[in-house]
Amino acid sequence: MLIVKKFGGTSVGDPDRIRNVARRCVEEYKKGNDVVVVLSAMGDTTDDLLELASKISSKPSKRELDMLMSTGEQVSVSLCAMAIMEMGYPAISLNAFQVAMHTTKVYGNARLRKIDRDRILTELDNKKIVLVTGFQGVNKYDDVTTLGRGGSDTTAVALAAALHADACEIYTDVDGVYTCDPRVVPNAKKLDEITYDEMLDLASLGAQVLHNRSVGMAKKYGVELVVRSSLTDAPGTVVKEDLTVEKRLVSGVAIDKSPARISLIGLKDVPGTAFNVFNVLGKKNIVVDIILQSIGRDGTKDISFTVDSKDLDEALKTLEEAKGKIGFEAITHEDNVAKVSIVGAGMMTDSGVASRMFEAIYNAGINIKMISTSEIRITVLVDEDEADRAARAVHDAFNAED
Ligand code: ASP
Ligand code: MG
Repeated sequence: MLIVKKFGGTSVGDPDRIRNVARRCVEEYKKGNDVVVVLSAMGDTTDDLLELASKISSKPSKRELDMLMSTGEQVSVSLCAMAIMEMGYPAISLNAFQVAMHTTKVYGNARLRKIDRDRILTELDNKKIVLVTGFQGVNKYDDVTTLGRGGSDTTAVALAAALHADACEIYTDVDGVYTCDPRVVPNAKKLDEITYDEMLDLASLGAQVLHNRSVGMAKKYGVELVVRSSLTDAPGTVVKEDLTVEKRLVSGVAIDKSPARISLIGLKDVPGTAFNVFNVLGKKNIVVDIILQSIGRDGTKDISFTVDSKDLDEALKTLEEAKGKIGFEAITHEDNVAKVSIVGAGMMTDSGVASRMFEAIYNAGINIKMISTSEIRITVLVDEDEADRAARAVHDAFNAED
Protein backbone atom coordinates (compact mmCIF):
# COMPACT_ATOMS: atom_id res chain seq x y z
CA MET A 1 0.00 0.00 0.00
CA LEU A 2 1.04 3.60 -0.60
CA ILE A 3 0.20 5.90 2.30
CA VAL A 4 0.44 9.70 2.29
CA LYS A 5 0.75 11.22 5.75
CA LYS A 6 0.63 14.93 6.44
CA PHE A 7 1.71 16.48 9.75
CA GLY A 8 0.85 20.06 10.69
CA GLY A 9 3.01 22.69 12.36
CA THR A 10 2.32 21.76 15.98
CA SER A 11 3.00 18.09 15.22
CA VAL A 12 6.55 19.02 14.17
CA GLY A 13 6.90 21.90 16.64
CA ASP A 14 10.13 20.80 18.35
CA PRO A 15 12.81 18.08 18.02
CA ASP A 16 10.87 15.63 20.21
CA ARG A 17 7.75 16.07 18.14
CA ILE A 18 9.79 15.61 14.96
CA ARG A 19 11.10 12.34 16.40
CA ASN A 20 7.52 11.35 17.19
CA VAL A 21 6.54 11.96 13.56
CA ALA A 22 9.59 10.03 12.39
CA ARG A 23 8.58 7.13 14.64
CA ARG A 24 5.06 7.05 13.22
CA CYS A 25 6.40 7.05 9.68
CA VAL A 26 8.82 4.23 10.49
CA GLU A 27 5.97 2.18 12.02
CA GLU A 28 4.05 2.49 8.77
CA TYR A 29 7.15 1.62 6.75
CA LYS A 30 7.80 -1.47 8.85
CA LYS A 31 4.38 -2.79 7.82
CA GLY A 32 5.80 -3.00 4.31
CA ASN A 33 4.05 0.12 3.00
CA ASP A 34 5.37 2.89 0.76
CA VAL A 35 5.31 6.07 2.84
CA VAL A 36 5.16 9.63 1.51
CA VAL A 37 5.17 12.33 4.18
CA VAL A 38 4.14 15.96 3.75
CA LEU A 39 5.19 18.38 6.49
CA SER A 40 4.27 21.91 7.48
CA ALA A 41 6.78 24.34 8.90
CA MET A 42 7.67 23.89 12.58
CA GLY A 43 5.23 25.57 15.00
CA ASP A 44 4.75 29.26 14.26
CA THR A 45 7.63 29.45 11.79
CA THR A 46 5.54 30.83 8.92
CA ASP A 47 4.12 33.59 11.13
CA ASP A 48 7.59 34.36 12.46
CA LEU A 49 8.98 34.65 8.94
CA LEU A 50 6.20 37.02 7.96
CA GLU A 51 6.86 39.07 11.06
CA LEU A 52 10.53 39.20 10.16
CA ALA A 53 9.69 40.42 6.65
CA SER A 54 7.51 43.18 8.10
CA LYS A 55 10.54 44.44 9.99
CA ILE A 56 12.40 44.88 6.70
CA SER A 57 9.64 46.12 4.44
CA SER A 58 6.15 47.50 4.89
CA LYS A 59 5.11 46.11 1.50
CA PRO A 60 7.41 43.20 0.71
CA SER A 61 7.49 41.77 -2.80
CA LYS A 62 5.21 38.74 -3.05
CA ARG A 63 7.83 36.78 -4.91
CA GLU A 64 10.34 37.35 -2.15
CA LEU A 65 7.77 36.50 0.52
CA ASP A 66 7.28 33.11 -1.13
CA MET A 67 11.04 32.57 -1.24
CA LEU A 68 11.10 33.35 2.45
CA MET A 69 8.05 31.37 3.60
CA SER A 70 8.99 28.26 1.64
CA THR A 71 12.11 27.84 3.77
CA GLY A 72 10.02 26.79 6.78
CA GLU A 73 8.87 23.52 5.25
CA GLN A 74 12.37 22.76 4.02
CA VAL A 75 13.59 22.89 7.60
CA SER A 76 11.02 20.39 8.84
CA VAL A 77 11.42 17.82 6.04
CA SER A 78 15.19 17.75 6.27
CA LEU A 79 15.15 17.43 10.07
CA CYS A 80 12.56 14.68 9.93
CA ALA A 81 14.57 12.79 7.29
CA MET A 82 17.57 12.97 9.66
CA ALA A 83 15.43 11.70 12.53
CA ILE A 84 14.29 8.71 10.48
CA MET A 85 17.88 7.93 9.48
CA GLU A 86 18.90 8.17 13.14
CA MET A 87 16.39 5.40 13.79
CA GLY A 88 18.15 3.30 11.19
CA TYR A 89 15.72 3.63 8.29
CA PRO A 90 16.25 5.14 4.83
CA ALA A 91 14.65 8.53 4.11
CA ILE A 92 15.01 11.43 1.72
CA SER A 93 13.54 14.92 1.81
CA LEU A 94 12.47 16.72 -1.37
CA ASN A 95 11.39 20.29 -1.94
CA ALA A 96 8.88 21.50 -4.51
CA PHE A 97 11.60 21.88 -7.14
CA GLN A 98 12.99 18.41 -6.68
CA VAL A 99 9.55 16.81 -6.93
CA ALA A 100 8.45 19.28 -9.59
CA MET A 101 5.18 20.51 -8.15
CA HIS A 102 3.91 22.77 -10.90
CA THR A 103 1.62 25.61 -9.90
CA THR A 104 -0.08 28.61 -11.42
CA LYS A 105 2.08 31.71 -11.50
CA VAL A 106 0.49 33.82 -8.76
CA TYR A 107 2.65 34.25 -5.66
CA GLY A 108 1.17 33.75 -2.20
CA ASN A 109 -1.91 31.91 -3.41
CA ALA A 110 -0.84 29.60 -6.23
CA ARG A 111 -2.79 26.52 -7.25
CA LEU A 112 -1.23 23.16 -7.93
CA ARG A 113 -1.45 22.24 -11.61
CA LYS A 114 0.55 19.08 -12.12
CA ILE A 115 2.88 16.99 -10.01
CA ASP A 116 5.68 14.96 -11.60
CA ARG A 117 5.63 11.52 -10.03
CA ASP A 118 8.92 10.15 -11.32
CA ARG A 119 11.26 11.33 -8.61
CA ILE A 120 8.99 10.21 -5.78
CA LEU A 121 8.33 6.83 -7.40
CA THR A 122 12.06 6.29 -7.94
CA GLU A 123 12.81 7.04 -4.29
CA LEU A 124 9.99 4.73 -3.17
CA ASP A 125 11.43 2.02 -5.42
CA ASN A 126 14.71 2.58 -3.63
CA LYS A 127 12.80 1.74 -0.44
CA LYS A 128 13.05 5.22 1.04
CA ILE A 129 10.55 7.08 3.14
CA VAL A 130 9.95 10.21 1.06
CA LEU A 131 9.39 13.54 2.82
CA VAL A 132 7.96 16.38 0.76
CA THR A 133 7.68 20.06 1.65
CA GLY A 134 4.04 21.13 2.01
CA PHE A 135 2.59 24.49 1.03
CA GLN A 136 4.84 25.22 -1.95
CA GLY A 137 5.29 24.76 -5.66
CA VAL A 138 7.13 26.07 -8.68
CA ASN A 139 5.62 28.31 -11.35
CA LYS A 140 6.40 28.65 -15.05
CA TYR A 141 9.14 31.19 -14.33
CA ASP A 142 10.87 28.58 -12.15
CA ASP A 143 10.06 30.66 -9.09
CA VAL A 144 8.93 29.25 -5.76
CA THR A 145 5.25 29.85 -5.02
CA THR A 146 3.17 29.15 -1.93
CA LEU A 147 -0.38 27.80 -1.86
CA GLY A 148 -1.98 30.09 0.72
CA ARG A 149 -1.88 29.72 4.51
CA GLY A 150 -2.67 26.20 5.65
CA GLY A 151 -1.82 24.94 2.16
CA SER A 152 0.10 21.83 3.22
CA ASP A 153 -3.17 19.90 3.45
CA THR A 154 -3.68 20.61 -0.24
CA THR A 155 -0.16 19.40 -1.05
CA ALA A 156 -0.95 16.11 0.70
CA VAL A 157 -4.25 15.57 -1.08
CA ALA A 158 -2.73 16.46 -4.46
CA LEU A 159 0.09 14.00 -3.88
CA ALA A 160 -2.34 11.30 -2.79
CA ALA A 161 -4.35 11.86 -5.98
CA ALA A 162 -1.30 11.96 -8.25
CA LEU A 163 0.23 8.84 -6.71
CA HIS A 164 -3.09 6.98 -6.46
CA ALA A 165 -2.38 6.49 -2.78
CA ASP A 166 -4.37 3.96 -0.78
CA ALA A 167 -4.79 6.36 2.13
CA CYS A 168 -4.29 10.04 2.89
CA GLU A 169 -3.93 10.78 6.59
CA ILE A 170 -3.92 14.33 7.90
CA TYR A 171 -2.31 14.45 11.36
CA THR A 172 -3.00 17.44 13.54
CA ASP A 173 -3.14 18.47 17.19
CA VAL A 174 -6.80 17.51 17.62
CA ASP A 175 -8.11 13.97 17.27
CA GLY A 176 -10.56 14.66 14.47
CA VAL A 177 -13.39 16.88 13.29
CA TYR A 178 -15.73 17.99 16.05
CA THR A 179 -19.36 19.09 16.01
CA CYS A 180 -18.09 22.51 17.15
CA ASP A 181 -14.89 24.05 18.44
CA PRO A 182 -14.45 22.26 21.82
CA ARG A 183 -12.92 25.43 23.28
CA VAL A 184 -16.29 27.14 22.76
CA VAL A 185 -18.65 24.22 23.21
CA PRO A 186 -17.16 21.90 25.84
CA ASN A 187 -19.61 19.08 25.07
CA ALA A 188 -18.76 19.07 21.35
CA LYS A 189 -18.37 15.54 20.05
CA LYS A 190 -15.89 14.01 17.68
CA LEU A 191 -17.43 12.81 14.42
CA ASP A 192 -16.47 9.39 13.06
CA GLU A 193 -17.39 10.39 9.52
CA ILE A 194 -18.30 13.50 7.59
CA THR A 195 -19.08 14.09 3.89
CA TYR A 196 -16.88 16.19 1.61
CA ASP A 197 -19.70 18.69 1.18
CA GLU A 198 -20.23 19.12 4.91
CA MET A 199 -16.50 19.43 5.46
CA LEU A 200 -16.21 21.96 2.65
CA ASP A 201 -18.79 24.14 4.31
CA LEU A 202 -17.23 23.68 7.73
CA ALA A 203 -13.70 24.31 6.42
CA SER A 204 -14.64 27.49 4.60
CA LEU A 205 -16.79 28.56 7.53
CA GLY A 206 -13.80 28.66 9.77
CA ALA A 207 -13.64 25.21 11.37
CA GLN A 208 -9.89 25.43 10.71
CA VAL A 209 -9.20 21.71 10.70
CA LEU A 210 -8.53 21.41 6.98
CA HIS A 211 -7.58 23.87 4.26
CA ASN A 212 -10.79 24.20 2.25
CA ARG A 213 -9.08 23.79 -1.11
CA SER A 214 -7.76 20.44 0.08
CA VAL A 215 -11.31 19.22 0.70
CA GLY A 216 -12.47 20.42 -2.73
CA MET A 217 -9.59 18.58 -4.31
CA ALA A 218 -10.24 15.43 -2.28
CA LYS A 219 -13.85 15.44 -3.47
CA LYS A 220 -12.85 16.01 -7.09
CA TYR A 221 -10.37 13.13 -7.15
CA GLY A 222 -12.20 10.87 -4.69
CA VAL A 223 -9.37 10.87 -2.14
CA GLU A 224 -10.73 9.60 1.17
CA LEU A 225 -9.14 11.58 4.02
CA VAL A 226 -8.60 10.70 7.64
CA VAL A 227 -8.08 13.55 10.10
CA ARG A 228 -6.41 12.31 13.27
CA SER A 229 -4.09 13.23 16.09
CA SER A 230 -0.33 12.88 15.79
CA LEU A 231 -0.09 12.31 19.55
CA THR A 232 -2.57 9.48 20.09
CA ASP A 233 -3.71 6.37 18.25
CA ALA A 234 -7.38 7.40 18.22
CA PRO A 235 -8.99 6.57 14.85
CA GLY A 236 -9.93 10.15 13.87
CA THR A 237 -12.58 11.35 11.42
CA VAL A 238 -13.01 10.00 7.88
CA VAL A 239 -13.94 12.57 5.21
CA LYS A 240 -15.65 10.96 2.22
CA GLU A 241 -18.44 11.19 -0.36
CA ASP A 242 -21.21 9.33 1.45
CA LEU A 243 -21.68 8.33 5.05
CA THR A 244 -22.10 4.69 5.98
CA VAL A 245 -24.44 5.78 8.76
CA GLU A 246 -27.65 7.71 8.15
CA LYS A 247 -27.12 11.35 7.34
CA ARG A 248 -27.26 13.58 10.40
CA LEU A 249 -29.52 16.59 10.42
CA VAL A 250 -26.72 18.78 11.72
CA SER A 251 -23.10 17.63 11.65
CA GLY A 252 -21.48 20.75 12.93
CA VAL A 253 -21.78 24.30 14.16
CA ALA A 254 -19.17 26.72 12.84
CA ILE A 255 -18.20 30.15 14.12
CA ASP A 256 -16.48 32.69 11.92
CA LYS A 257 -15.51 36.00 13.45
CA SER A 258 -13.89 37.45 10.34
CA PRO A 259 -16.84 39.16 8.62
CA ALA A 260 -17.86 42.81 8.71
CA ARG A 261 -21.20 44.19 7.53
CA ILE A 262 -21.76 47.06 5.11
CA SER A 263 -25.17 48.56 4.30
CA LEU A 264 -25.99 50.91 1.47
CA ILE A 265 -29.10 52.90 2.31
CA GLY A 266 -31.40 54.63 -0.18
CA LEU A 267 -30.22 53.03 -3.40
CA LYS A 268 -32.37 53.72 -6.45
CA ASP A 269 -34.84 50.89 -7.01
CA VAL A 270 -33.98 50.45 -10.68
CA PRO A 271 -32.33 47.71 -12.78
CA GLY A 272 -28.54 47.58 -12.57
CA THR A 273 -28.10 48.85 -9.00
CA ALA A 274 -26.89 45.57 -7.53
CA PHE A 275 -24.69 45.03 -10.56
CA ASN A 276 -23.04 48.43 -10.08
CA VAL A 277 -22.39 47.84 -6.37
CA PHE A 278 -20.84 44.41 -6.70
CA ASN A 279 -19.05 45.20 -9.93
CA VAL A 280 -16.93 47.94 -8.35
CA LEU A 281 -16.12 45.64 -5.41
CA GLY A 282 -15.37 42.69 -7.69
CA LYS A 283 -12.90 44.77 -9.65
CA LYS A 284 -10.95 45.28 -6.43
CA ASN A 285 -11.05 41.51 -5.74
CA ILE A 286 -13.15 42.06 -2.64
CA VAL A 287 -15.07 38.89 -1.87
CA VAL A 288 -18.65 39.51 -0.80
CA ASP A 289 -20.48 36.91 1.23
CA ILE A 290 -24.03 37.17 2.61
CA ILE A 291 -26.12 39.61 0.57
CA LEU A 292 -29.50 40.97 1.63
CA GLN A 293 -31.65 43.35 -0.42
CA SER A 294 -34.76 44.97 0.95
CA ILE A 295 -38.02 45.27 -0.97
CA GLY A 296 -38.20 48.59 -2.79
CA ARG A 297 -40.22 51.37 -1.16
CA ASP A 298 -40.83 54.90 -2.53
CA GLY A 299 -38.38 54.24 -5.33
CA THR A 300 -35.48 53.30 -3.05
CA LYS A 301 -34.07 50.14 -1.52
CA ASP A 302 -31.20 49.08 0.78
CA ILE A 303 -28.55 46.44 0.22
CA SER A 304 -26.52 44.91 3.06
CA PHE A 305 -23.68 42.45 2.66
CA THR A 306 -20.66 41.09 4.46
CA VAL A 307 -16.98 41.22 3.54
CA ASP A 308 -13.93 39.97 5.37
CA SER A 309 -12.88 42.49 8.05
CA LYS A 310 -9.51 42.90 6.43
CA ASP A 311 -11.23 44.19 3.26
CA LEU A 312 -13.60 46.55 5.09
CA ASP A 313 -11.62 49.77 4.68
CA GLU A 314 -10.96 49.18 1.03
CA ALA A 315 -14.59 48.26 0.37
CA LEU A 316 -15.85 51.45 2.07
CA LYS A 317 -13.38 53.57 0.16
CA THR A 318 -14.27 51.93 -3.15
CA LEU A 319 -17.99 52.47 -2.57
CA GLU A 320 -17.53 56.12 -1.53
CA GLU A 321 -15.52 56.75 -4.67
CA ALA A 322 -18.25 55.18 -6.80
CA LYS A 323 -21.06 57.00 -4.95
CA GLY A 324 -21.93 59.13 -7.98
CA LYS A 325 -22.16 56.15 -10.26
CA ILE A 326 -24.02 53.86 -7.86
CA GLY A 327 -26.25 56.47 -6.26
CA PHE A 328 -27.05 55.97 -2.56
CA GLU A 329 -27.95 58.16 0.41
CA ALA A 330 -25.83 56.68 3.16
CA ILE A 331 -23.45 53.92 3.98
CA THR A 332 -23.21 52.21 7.37
CA HIS A 333 -20.94 49.44 8.60
CA GLU A 334 -20.04 47.38 11.64
CA ASP A 335 -16.98 45.26 12.15
CA ASN A 336 -17.92 43.37 15.31
CA VAL A 337 -20.18 40.77 13.71
CA ALA A 338 -19.75 37.01 13.38
CA LYS A 339 -21.29 34.18 11.42
CA VAL A 340 -22.72 31.17 13.20
CA SER A 341 -23.61 28.32 10.86
CA ILE A 342 -25.07 24.86 11.06
CA VAL A 343 -24.08 22.33 8.44
CA GLY A 344 -25.66 18.95 7.77
CA ALA A 345 -26.32 16.80 4.74
CA GLY A 346 -29.57 15.61 6.33
CA MET A 347 -31.21 19.05 6.43
CA MET A 348 -31.85 18.89 2.69
CA THR A 349 -34.92 16.79 3.38
CA ASP A 350 -36.04 18.28 6.71
CA SER A 351 -38.11 21.43 6.85
CA GLY A 352 -37.93 22.23 10.56
CA VAL A 353 -34.20 22.81 10.92
CA ALA A 354 -34.17 26.55 10.32
CA SER A 355 -36.92 27.28 12.83
CA ARG A 356 -35.18 25.15 15.46
CA MET A 357 -31.98 27.07 14.96
CA PHE A 358 -33.73 30.45 15.15
CA GLU A 359 -35.68 29.34 18.24
CA ALA A 360 -32.49 28.40 20.05
CA ILE A 361 -30.97 31.79 19.25
CA TYR A 362 -34.15 33.56 20.31
CA ASN A 363 -34.23 31.65 23.61
CA ALA A 364 -30.68 32.82 24.21
CA GLY A 365 -31.89 36.40 23.73
CA ILE A 366 -29.64 37.02 20.76
CA ASN A 367 -30.62 39.13 17.77
CA ILE A 368 -30.10 37.83 14.24
CA LYS A 369 -28.89 40.50 11.83
CA MET A 370 -28.77 38.57 8.58
CA ILE A 371 -29.56 35.06 7.37
CA SER A 372 -28.27 33.04 4.46
CA THR A 373 -28.84 29.43 3.47
CA SER A 374 -27.65 26.75 1.09
CA GLU A 375 -28.86 23.18 0.60
CA ILE A 376 -26.90 21.88 3.56
CA ARG A 377 -26.17 25.03 5.56
CA ILE A 378 -27.89 27.84 7.47
CA THR A 379 -25.86 30.86 8.50
CA VAL A 380 -26.87 33.74 10.74
CA LEU A 381 -24.99 36.93 11.39
CA VAL A 382 -24.90 38.04 15.05
CA ASP A 383 -22.90 40.40 17.26
CA GLU A 384 -19.38 39.07 17.59
CA ASP A 385 -19.58 39.18 21.41
CA GLU A 386 -22.59 36.88 21.29
CA ALA A 387 -21.30 34.42 18.70
CA ASP A 388 -19.93 31.83 21.13
CA ARG A 389 -23.11 31.87 23.17
CA ALA A 390 -25.22 31.54 20.03
CA ALA A 391 -23.11 28.58 18.91
CA ARG A 392 -23.56 26.86 22.30
CA ALA A 393 -27.32 27.41 22.22
CA VAL A 394 -27.64 26.04 18.70
CA HIS A 395 -25.31 23.13 19.42
CA ASP A 396 -27.39 22.19 22.47
CA ALA A 397 -30.63 22.42 20.52
CA PHE A 398 -29.49 19.88 17.96
CA ASN A 399 -27.58 17.57 20.24
CA ALA A 400 -30.23 17.19 22.92
CA GLU A 401 -32.04 14.64 20.78
CA ASP A 402 -29.18 12.33 19.87
N1 ASP B 1 3.25 26.56 7.05
C1 ASP B 1 2.17 27.04 6.25
C2 ASP B 1 1.23 27.90 7.08
O1 ASP B 1 1.38 28.07 8.25
C3 ASP B 1 1.40 25.96 5.56
C4 ASP B 1 0.73 24.95 6.47
O2 ASP B 1 1.08 24.82 7.62
O3 ASP B 1 -0.16 24.24 5.99
O4 ASP B 1 0.30 28.45 6.55
MG1 MG C 1 -3.63 23.48 9.01
